[in-house]
Amino acid sequence: MPELPEVETVRRGLSPALEGATIAVATARVSKLRFPIPEDFSARLTGNRIERLTRRSKYILMECADGLMVILHLGMSGRVTIHKADGLPVAPAKHDHVELKTADGTHVIYNDARRFGLILFSDRETIADHPLIRDIGPEPLGNEFNVDVLNAGLMRRKSSIKAALLDQKLVAGLGNIYVCEALWRAGIHPSRQALSVAGDGAARLVPIIRDVLTEAIAAGGSTLKDYVQASGELGYFQHSFKAYGREGEACSTPDCGGTIERIVQQGRSSFFCSTCQE
Ligand code: ZN
Repeated sequence: MPELPEVETVRRGLSPALEGATIAVATARVSKLRFPIPEDFSARLTGNRIERLTRRSKYILMECADGLMVILHLGMSGRVTIHKADGLPVAPAKHDHVELKTADGTHVIYNDARRFGLILFSDRETIADHPLIRDIGPEPLGNEFNVDVLNAGLMRRKSSIKAALLDQKLVAGLGNIYVCEALWRAGIHPSRQALSVAGDGAARLVPIIRDVLTEAIAAGGSTLKDYVQASGELGYFQHSFKAYGREGEACSTPDCGGTIERIVQQGRSSFFCSTCQE
């Protein structure tokens, strides 16, 4: 499932193709993904110009010239591909549900086998009040996420630190993978009470969360060029995780000597080292 770095990589990959572009043809081949696709999808986008692509948590926001805001979420399996401008029609592949063709002949295609993604319309003016957006916590890479904010959030929670960091109201966009990686790097056991991490733990976690995400975005950026050249597919790239998915392997914390273990919390796997994570 795409997390914040993958979504940001897709946004960065899409920007050159869509920012400033006029939509010549907008096609939806299905009537719904997770929610119904707007009935006026084609009418409202055709002839419209996309001014800016931004991101809030795992939502990509397309700001259009007429005040329209398109909300895109990749769900579990959503993929975006760009087919460069030769103007020729692109034969739709299986699960190619939505397609934008820009005035210069570039095709941007949204493919989603499981259809948990979403494409909705909102307004640029009121996007902050949209039901999907309004309750999302601070962006982890923005100034509004800091030690004070994390501390206050942890002190209010009775859950584990793992569950607290997955709570989108505490901090936006973190998913299972990057929470595992951040806790491993911070030396904090995923089962610890959130409350007990306030203070020193929160002070350690804030820069580590930023680093883990920034490094993943950088990894996405460095492979972006290759993907666009090879298959045109954005956002999925080879990661090197230190804890996630490494059950039974040696912990790579220097001089630790421990082994990565796996437990299940709230139905999701947590990977950690009980030697260096307390
Ligand atoms: Zn270790």
